[in-house]
Amino acid sequence: MGETILNLQKITKRFGDTKVLKGIDLTIEKGEFITFLGPSGCGKTTTLRIIAGLETPDTGKVILNGEDVTDTEPNKRDVNTVFQSYALFPHMDVASNIGYGLKLKKTSKETIKKKIEEVLELVQLQGFEKRKPSELSGGQKQRVAIARAIINNPKILLLDEPLGALDLQLRRQMQLELKKLQKKLGITFIYITHDQEEAINMSDRIVVMRDGIFEQTGTPDEVYNTPLTSYVARFVGNANVIEGKVSSIGEDRIVVTVGQENIAVKKSEKDYKVGDRITLAVRSENILVNDEMEYPITAKVTEKSFAGGLLRMVFQLENKEELVASRHGINYNLEIGDEAKIGWNMDNVVIVNN
Ligand code: ATP
Repeated sequence: MGETILNLQKITKRFGDTKVLKGIDLTIEKGEFITFLGPSGCGKTTTLRIIAGLETPDTGKVILNGEDVTDTEPNKRDVNTVFQSYALFPHMDVASNIGYGLKLKKTSKETIKKKIEEVLELVQLQGFEKRKPSELSGGQKQRVAIARAIINNPKILLLDEPLGALDLQLRRQMQLELKKLQKKLGITFIYITHDQEEAINMSDRIVVMRDGIFEQTGTPDEVYNTPLTSYVARFVGNANVIEGKVSSIGEDRIVVTVGQENIAVKKSEKDYKVGDRITLAVRSENILVNDEMEYPITAKVTEKSFAGGLLRMVFQLENKEELVASRHGINYNLEIGDEAKIGWNMDNVVIVNN
């Protein structure tokens, strides 16, 4: 374990009758890139605002660098925020926007100038000092907002969907740049997104949020490959979630009946008995179609579409449940209405909590 920089302890928050945060706990290490991932309204921004000091929790504590800052004013915390909306001063040029905080702190003009040069180089905007925000592209504005937020070397940088307003290509490029910048600076980044791909690309750890709770926290690999709940499996891996009943238990496997057919999953640490209900998750890219498999199930094609070189097919099982299969560029020679045998390798299915 590295050095702890931030500790959230049993934080709750309600707005009116709505409990927005229901008791969240988290320890973040110095230098981590951690992402809060969850759908709109699950409480990501509220959590970030509590860390920044823009919101006070109803109960619980925020410990920053070993110090209880729960009631400390935002400007007395060693934390800066970058918002999706950039929040640049429109009448000031780039240099003045970036140097504003240091000027307030009465830093000498020379130091400010030097620091502005340094951060402009870091965000690759050398020579843009005199431009006004209206003369910048979306990506350049975002870079200025980031430069402004890192100029005074905060311990933690909070980023609330900072790339949300950019088009996909620029967004991908900025993801890489931000990640590089974070490693170079060694500042702890707490990043918000509702885009699972972005979270997986950038983070050391992902906190998957659901309706005011932290549903699962882990590395991208952990949350993607071993989701603990059906929610995480669906949200992070776009997985198919299948419910069935345990029909027999072998040495290495649990056989599960779904409708009239049997499928199997590798035995887990948890003990199951014949007759138990069980929930399984299998990602669309792991569904095999008319291939070699131990437990084939009969299914009918109900949808077929191509998107970005990816073939997506929906299969309906006999019990009317639907599974999505996707593959790069492979046509299964199947049309809507055709029957097929589908299944998966036992290594590619996990047991999840419902
Ligand atoms: P998004 O991705 O849409 O920004 P989010 O996960 O960041 O969503 P929050 O902004 O934290 O979610 O909001 C969580 C819930 O709290 C929402 O239902 C929102 O309407 C509510 N909420 C947030 N701030 C306030 C406020 N100041 N007063 C009343 N309700 C609020």
